Amino acid sequence: MNAAPTPYTAIERRIALAAQAAGRPGGVGLLAVSKGQSAAAIRALAAAGQHAFGENYVQEALAKQAELADLPLTWHLIGALQSNKCREAARHFDWLHTLDRAKLVEPLARYRPDDRPPLNVLIQVDIDTEASKSGCRPDEIEGLAAAVARQPRLRLRGLMAIPAPWPEIERRRDAFARMHRLFERLRDAHAGIDTLSLGMSADFEDAIAAGSTLVRIGTALFGARR
Ligand SMILES: *Cc1c(COP(=O)(O)O)cnc(C)c1O
Repeated sequence: MNAAPTPYTAIERRIALAAQAAGRPGGVGLLAVSKGQSAAAIRALAAAGQHAFGENYVQEALAKQAELADLPLTWHLIGALQSNKCREAARHFDWLHTLDRAKLVEPLARYRPDDRPPLNVLIQVDIDTEASKSGCRPDEIEGLAAAVARQPRLRLRGLMAIPAPWPEIERRRDAFARMHRLFERLRDAHAGIDTLSLGMSADFEDAIAAGSTLVRIGTALFGARR
């Protein structure tokens, strides 16, 4: 008899099935979005085997990182980055998903500690201009990518987007498909591009079908946020 599935094992299974259906078995990672969740909830998920966690707010993340310093976790900053937070972002995270303007590149590189590997960087794209608050325009990607690629303390890995939550699934699929084309274009132009961060609790299977390599899931894993 199998034990009853936990939300974590159920999500892992759905990701594996969607990746297989897309012809990329094993090719999609899970980022557990832990904003609004306690350090204890993160610890429990880490014990079940999850190691990559995403946080939106630098201060909230630092408090949890301090409590969980005994665990070998990987931390992704997925919230909008303000200039005055570049130092802490560069020091305390492994990945940044939300690079969207050139003036952040130099401070991120400058503050990345020499004793840590380069900071992994995704460029956030505003793929649905109607809905957006953050992200660069598609025609700004290449300039930003070139600026990141010039910095040895940063490592350009790909793109991220938060498409508008259109009720019509066709509109969301269209946004995912446009992101995948931008990702392929970036991959043709730069070495080391391997990550398309796309898809959340409500739509990750569609995102995987369109080419996502990393899904960001919060509520479907942890339940509602505080
Ligand atoms: C909160 C958040 C998520 C997770 O959203 P859920 O709907 O809870 O899965 C993913 N990505 C970003 C950028 C977020 O802010």
